[in-house]
Amino acid sequence: MPIDLLPSVEHFLSRRQRLLIGGQWVDSVSGETFDTLNPATGQPLCAVASGQAEDVDRAVQAARAAFPAWAALMPAERERLLRRYAELLERHKEELAQLETLDNGKPYQVAYNVEVNVAIGQMYYYAGLPTKLKGETYAVSSPGYHVYTRREPLGVCAAITPWNYSLVMAVQKIGPALASGNTLILKPAEQTPLTAIRLAELALEADLPPGVFNLVTGYGETAGAALTRHSEVDKVAFTGSTEVGKAIMQAAAGNLKRISLELGGKSPLIIFDDAELELATEAALWAIFANSGQNCVAGSRLYVQSGAYEAVIARLAQRATELRVGPGMEANTQIGPLISQQQLERVLAYVHSAEGRIVVGGERWGSVGYFVKPTIIGELSDTSRAAVEEIFGPVLSVFRFDTEDEVLARANASRFGLAAGVWTTHLGRAHRTAAALKAGVVWINTYDWFDPAVPFGGMKESGYGRELGTQVMDMYTELKSVWVKIE
Ligand code: NAP
Ligand code: MG
Repeated sequence: MPIDLLPSVEHFLSRRQRLLIGGQWVDSVSGETFDTLNPATGQPLCAVASGQAEDVDRAVQAARAAFPAWAALMPAERERLLRRYAELLERHKEELAQLETLDNGKPYQVAYNVEVNVAIGQMYYYAGLPTKLKGETYAVSSPGYHVYTRREPLGVCAAITPWNYSLVMAVQKIGPALASGNTLILKPAEQTPLTAIRLAELALEADLPPGVFNLVTGYGETAGAALTRHSEVDKVAFTGSTEVGKAIMQAAAGNLKRISLELGGKSPLIIFDDAELELATEAALWAIFANSGQNCVAGSRLYVQSGAYEAVIARLAQRATELRVGPGMEANTQIGPLISQQQLERVLAYVHSAEGRIVVGGERWGSVGYFVKPTIIGELSDTSRAAVEEIFGPVLSVFRFDTEDEVLARANASRFGLAAGVWTTHLGRAHRTAAALKAGVVWINTYDWFDPAVPFGGMKESGYGRELGTQVMDMYTELKSVWVKIE
């Protein structure tokens, strides 16, 4: 059954969407726009301003102008404003979830219960951080000195975000940037600008001062690149592909911008013979197929110990064919479309080139929209492309292993190091493997859990820096040491 569109969503979609610069909604200087599409149908949802270098420059000036007053605001006042912002997100939960489902394709229940809820939880968490910023005093070995550190905001931050969890990825950067006294320009992915636009509208409604939060929609090569090379941008917070992350690192060298990079992954999930197999198999299913596999932490390499291999693969294959694929705005859909025609073709190309055995799926679902059936590939070599590269689609590679040492070596033989999962009932093995896996997060007997209080980020080519937790404030502040001669 289709879910009815809210009148507020219909109204939102009937407008041409603009840029938010210095508290004003403006067209791009060039007047150019692009359409954002509904991936369930391939049809346009609405036209969005295509920001370019001139627009970025105006947004940077606005953010620069707003910075001193925002940084000087009493921390309790910043908390009050950010809390009001979080409350507004909460009040508009259904609307945000519908916009995300339309723009990104994910099932409405997932958008509502996962994406929007997580974003709201994060905004409340960050709203509490301004009063927790602190420095330290030091016992120096020179007589007559009092030495302390201060945490100071960086200045103007740029947030460049991907399309897979657009709302969460935006809030994960807006929250800490503003909480620590910076001003911000958000550049959302061109495929999913709608919830970012709504976030900007709600920021104005929450009375965030003009210029504190600016929005420039547009393409990565134009708006995104202009932000990363702008000499008055002090920091770029990026989530997206490893390839673009590397380009950003180079562009940031111009003025030695601070950067944080949350990049791709090819995360291993290991099931030992002694695991609770039914729970482990269900976890492995959702580890890859949640969000149609378009998940940075997707458990895309599944290693099953020999004794459990046949049972796990048979059960996985059965469950994968039971999953209900369909448009996100259908009430009982579990698996939505991929984001774009390009992504559909990319994912199918990986599947068609894989030299293993397609256990289930391996083809498009339906003829409209960008759907791919949940796909499992077995009997792949560890070095085949489908086993090594991030596919970012509903495609699971399953491997058999015999020993703990062997599986750890194979799991770690990747240029990525974002996440890993281990299923075992052996306590010692659980902690041993958690320590041995080269990944920023390891889940034991669970998968894909997050909390605003727990740091998240990647090792190796999966990233640089940590988001979430109080540690994120280190990524948005400078540490200043102050020496005072007191004698
Ligand atoms: P992407 O192609 O790297 O794009 C991410 C963002 O960067 C988009 O806003 C994009 O703009 C922009 N961009 C592209 N080229 C740019 C450039 N030269 N300079 C500045 N910005 C540029 O990634 P995606 O396809 O949207 O997202 C999928 C990737 O994100 C996957 O690799 C996934 O693993 C990763 N991801 C990682 C995490 C994590 O936390 N580690 C979370 C989610 C996703 P346009 O789209 O408008 O071109
Ligand atoms: Mg879209």
